[in-house]
Amino acid sequence: MADNGPDISFERVALIGLGLIGSSLAWAMRARGLARDYVGFSRSEATRSKALELGFIDRAAASAAEAVAGADLVVVAVPVGASGSIAEEIGPHLAPGSIVTDVGSVKQAVVDAIAPHIPQGVHFVPGHPVAGTEHSGPEAGFAELFEGRWCILTPVQGTDPGAVARITALWRALGSEVDTMDARHHDMVLAITSHLPHLIAYTIVGTATDLESSLKQEVIKFAAGGFRDFTRIAASDPVMWRDVFLANREAVLEMLGRFDEDLTALQRAIRYGDGDKLEEIFAASRAVRRSILEAGQA
Ligand code: NAP
Repeated sequence: MADNGPDISFERVALIGLGLIGSSLAWAMRARGLARDYVGFSRSEATRSKALELGFIDRAAASAAEAVAGADLVVVAVPVGASGSIAEEIGPHLAPGSIVTDVGSVKQAVVDAIAPHIPQGVHFVPGHPVAGTEHSGPEAGFAELFEGRWCILTPVQGTDPGAVARITALWRALGSEVDTMDARHHDMVLAITSHLPHLIAYTIVGTATDLESSLKQEVIKFAAGGFRDFTRIAASDPVMWRDVFLANREAVLEMLGRFDEDLTALQRAIRYGDGDKLEEIFAASRAVRRSILEAGQA
């Protein structure tokens, strides 16, 4: 028989957390017929009912422990700060041979929180789909979210290669490219590419909010001048982002320190009328944009 690669179909998927990422994953897997049965759990009854009504889960469980019983794939898709308590609850109920994965935006803290609760014979493959929108909740999901995006896996040494291969193949089937790296390295890379931009967006929107009212009105009116893009990023889920900064403290502080130095250099160039310096910095930034376009990640 021909080798068709790792098996990417599952009998029962348990989704813990039914927001943007959990629902998008369910829709994307459903669109490709990758599982027979979808069971979901979310903290609130309202979200569980909405998920059932929308139809991306077949059954809502009354607890995370109940959701994972008999599942061969468990996806933890809650804010990263909730990962540890979820793992502690589901640990004793995980089926032997099953795979647990997650989608958290920070990896080392999540590995530290989840791994100790994974029993022998269950495989944990931490993951982070680098895809998202500023919307959250069960209605925000859509099947195409992961197409053309990266998914980063950060398995710890000694993880069953077969389980890593299945999760890799799963993300590829959903249209993503997959890279594998060390969790700490992931956190450093994402600190500058995602976490710091969000922090800057939250700051600049906050600064504008604090302006006296006449100026504030005009900020809204003339938002298209650049401010609007920051407001979109700053509309992201506050709980998710609170947890990201608390969980990726070291890497974010490191990148923030570097950013601060560069901002001071710009401030100095403006103060002393150093146009050449400004132009040099802006030209280098423009080249980065071109590379992103060329990489198809715009
Ligand atoms: P979301 O839309 O806000 O959904 C989060 C879900 O988790 C909700 O269903 C929420 O339940 C549930 N939840 C929260 N605390 C819980 C708990 N203690 N027990 C059970 N369920 C709980 O967030 P999301 O964007 O899908 O983010 C989920 C994960 O994906 C996060 O770790 C985030 O870092 C990661 N991620 C996000 C993005 C992005 O752009 N948004 C991209 C990549 C990865 P209720 O609705 O019932 O309260």
